[in-house]
Amino acid sequence: MHDLLTWFYPLLLDLTRVGIWFVAVCVIFIPLERIFAARKQKVLRKQLGNDCAYFVMSWILPPVLMAPVLALVYWVSRGLIPEAFFAAVAAIPFWQRAILALILGDVGYYWGHRALHTVPLLWRFHSVHHSAEELDFLIDLRMHPVDMLFGRLSGLIPVYALGLGAPTGVGSLVPALIAITGTLWGFFIHANLRFRYGPVEWLFGTPPFHRWHHALRPANQNYAALWPWIDMIFGTYYAPKGESPAAYGIDSVMPEELSAQLLDPFLGPVRPAVAVPAASVASASATAGVAADERAV
Ligand SMILES: [Zn+2]
Ligand SMILES: [Zn+2]
Repeated sequence: MHDLLTWFYPLLLDLTRVGIWFVAVCVIFIPLERIFAARKQKVLRKQLGNDCAYFVMSWILPPVLMAPVLALVYWVSRGLIPEAFFAAVAAIPFWQRAILALILGDVGYYWGHRALHTVPLLWRFHSVHHSAEELDFLIDLRMHPVDMLFGRLSGLIPVYALGLGAPTGVGSLVPALIAITGTLWGFFIHANLRFRYGPVEWLFGTPPFHRWHHALRPANQNYAALWPWIDMIFGTYYAPKGESPAAYGIDSVMPEELSAQLLDPFLGPVRPAVAVPAASVASASATAGVAADERAV
């Protein structure tokens, strides 16, 4: 009995913490989305139960799954890059190092996110996030664990490899700052808020910028989370003035059951929304690259 309690207690503590975090986020965003809604939407909407489950997963899984990978990246990079480089990085004042890490982390995330859209195998997992037909703050964490792991690692690996973060000690403050900023910013850019941000919209990621990322048409733009100018540099920035997307979602069928959303990506590609004749399936396989881009909405 005592052993069972020792095992159960940390889990209970974790679930209590995630519960408090969930309530705090809801207390901030639900009133904001009611008062400043960009579109009229219900709070109690479709798939809310699934999104709560994804919220809990996002709290428990990343630390467990990412820690060994990041520790490995840290030690391998120490073996490959001369010590003088890390000494120079460590000498940079904390806030400059933190800003550098936020930029480098978003460049890494940009390319990881772009791969999640353009590599068919990765799109199977990322399409769960894009299946949302209405956007609100909770959609931020509607993410298959493989997608979550891949996206977060693509941001954190360059930060760890170049000595801007360390698994323990003072160096761990920078990755912690990235994790906190990324999480809060993620809720913000998915929120159903009608604010516009004028001339700084190209500088900081905002809800209007990320809404175009979720647009059904056109597809494959605005991959950065924090800094839209990264999309400008790599030619994927899209934010027409005074317009917003006509619809969000994907051209495929996403099952509503949580178990299917979690298991189906391992079994095969997402099914197209309209049945495709056999002849066009054959010709589509010859142009797989184009097909992948078209699917990635
Ligand atoms: Zn995406
Ligand atoms: Zn999103």
